[in-house]
Amino acid sequence: MRSWFTEEVVQGDVVTALNVVIPTRGCSWNKCTMCSYSLGIQEEPFLEDFARLMEKDFDKIKIFTSGSFLDTTELPVSVREDVLDVVKERGVKEITIETRPEYAKNALSVQKYMGNIVVEVAIGLESSNDRILQFCINKGFLFKDFITAVHALKSFKVKAYLLIKPPFLTEYEAIEDAVASAHMIADMVDVISFNPVAIHKRRCWNTCGGQGTILRPGYGRWWRYSTAALTSLRISSAIRWLWEREGE
Ligand code: SF4
Repeated sequence: MRSWFTEEVVQGDVVTALNVVIPTRGCSWNKCTMCSYSLGIQEEPFLEDFARLMEKDFDKIKIFTSGSFLDTTELPVSVREDVLDVVKERGVKEITIETRPEYAKNALSVQKYMGNIVVEVAIGLESSNDRILQFCINKGFLFKDFITAVHALKSFKVKAYLLIKPPFLTEYEAIEDAVASAHMIADMVDVISFNPVAIHKRRCWNTCGGQGTILRPGYGRWWRYSTAALTSLRISSAIRWLWEREGE
């Protein structure tokens, strides 16, 4: 079971966060063009190792599953509750879980279970543009589905992941899309995280032109330039908003 530590802002303080990837069967959708998280995954017992991690020094825990923590096909309710019991007993200020929008309503039972511990729910939106969601990423949901999920999560801290750069976009299009998407969701979520696309083996992005320009001129892997350009946009309203909210 992979785990590592990061620094995160929780209620205005910088704290240590334990990041842990639970070995589930993987994402039930499993069709995004750039993703192969579920390939080669081996579902295996993990609770003992997970419980041992609780002896480490941290105030926040981020649980990843290579899919959706709230998908009961991927993680049965009984196993999910076993995991939450371990975290609850250890005590943390905040727990982050990830989900696709269709499972978001299941977060309500998690919050009930966790009592006063802040539950942050992260959704991989990637883009607010339906054409990009459908034709570049094959995300399997539309922007309106994300909005429905955010409404269902109104009592939660919500984080959205945006993708730099979705497959089949040029560098310029990717930057435009990331900024436009951030503006679109700025008033809907508490945290926006920009994630440079990862190149996974045996996925369309990797085999259909991610290494070159087979599909269209100007199409290739993301440049550092995109990430740097987006970072420098902190002075734009969307990014400034993000920083201000992070500092609250
Ligand atoms: S990117 Fe997320 S939603 Fe898409 S297949 Fe991978 S784990 Fe599933």
